[in-house]
Amino acid sequence: MRVIDIIKQADKTLFSFELLPPLRGNSIASIYKVIDPLMDFNPSFINVTYHQEEVVYKKHPSGLLEKKTIRKRPGTVAISAAIKNKYTSVEVVPHLICGGFSKEETEYALIDFHYLGIDNILALRGDAPKNLRAFQPEGNGHSYANDLVSQIAEMNNGKFLDDEMQHTFKTNFCIGVAGYPEKHIEAPNMATDLTYLKKKIDAGAEFIITQMFFDNTKYFSFVDACRKEGISVPIIPGMKPICTMRELTALPQIFYIDIPERLSKEIQKCTSNEDVFKAGIEWGIEQSKELLDNGVPVLHYFTVGISENIRQIAKAIF
Ligand code: FAD
Repeated sequence: MRVIDIIKQADKTLFSFELLPPLRGNSIASIYKVIDPLMDFNPSFINVTYHQEEVVYKKHPSGLLEKKTIRKRPGTVAISAAIKNKYTSVEVVPHLICGGFSKEETEYALIDFHYLGIDNILALRGDAPKNLRAFQPEGNGHSYANDLVSQIAEMNNGKFLDDEMQHTFKTNFCIGVAGYPEKHIEAPNMATDLTYLKKKIDAGAEFIITQMFFDNTKYFSFVDACRKEGISVPIIPGMKPICTMRELTALPQIFYIDIPERLSKEIQKCTSNEDVFKAGIEWGIEQSKELLDNGVPVLHYFTVGISENIRQIAKAIF
């Protein structure tokens, strides 16, 4: 079922979460370990992130470094299929990125998703690999997410890349895109970022999932600004409870977001990571309650391999 239809049919705020494929070498059981404790709260959909190849340097006993290109977290397509098969009541939203994909490879991936009966895609550009300063599209690949959205929308209209092909089916993907309540790092200002967000919606996206934020006022202002821009699709708040002391500085560095002073003071008072974990849950409950009271369509949580904190938040909310 398409996410937009699930949201339209719902008479209350829904629950969903995002999963990271396990690091290469770990079994799919580690994914089920994250999902199982959250199934009691009837998630409406589960997102599965997509990870591009990255350059790593492997040290040999001689001290020489070998440059290798690997995918640390493969398996998005297979994990999406496995979830659909094992948890039949839940929809899956695999992520698809521009980075590393030519338009043809994008089409192949979308055909695979369609054959697997997957109805939803979160269309993203992807970040620059760690060894590059700026995002580089693949030869004949997309430079921005709005182009990827357009390609998916074309397939929904039965239009594939090769015009001469005999097309016997149309895909029916509900397309989601990312939004940034605190602005995307590369955008010169919020107004420009919103112009491009609108471009993704105009290209065919039907819902937005936001980057994590810890201050609800940022989300509320973002929604207001989107509405003024003429963006009327559901805007799903994305949240991640803080788990460790290190995240206090790591999350702003990785995701270009602020941690409110009241939360950072609470975390700094903690004397162990167990205390930080508890403080993260308390903040998550408070944040979720306020969003719920304001009638958000879905509360969406980034699990990052851990579900105990989200289980406790969901228990207090749903
Ligand atoms: P875009 O919408 O293409 O925007 C990128 C930048 O370019 C922005 O600054 C925007 O203002 C600007 N821009 C957009 N369109 C144009 C245009 N036509 N012309 C000029 N400028 C333009 N990354 C992954 O690799 N895998 C994942 O699974 C993943 N999941 C994510 C899930 C969520 C909910 C979020 C919020 C992010 C996720 N990301 C993921 C990270 C995302 O790929 C990065 O934030 C990336 O840098 C931007 O992706 P985007 O789709 O927002 O890009």
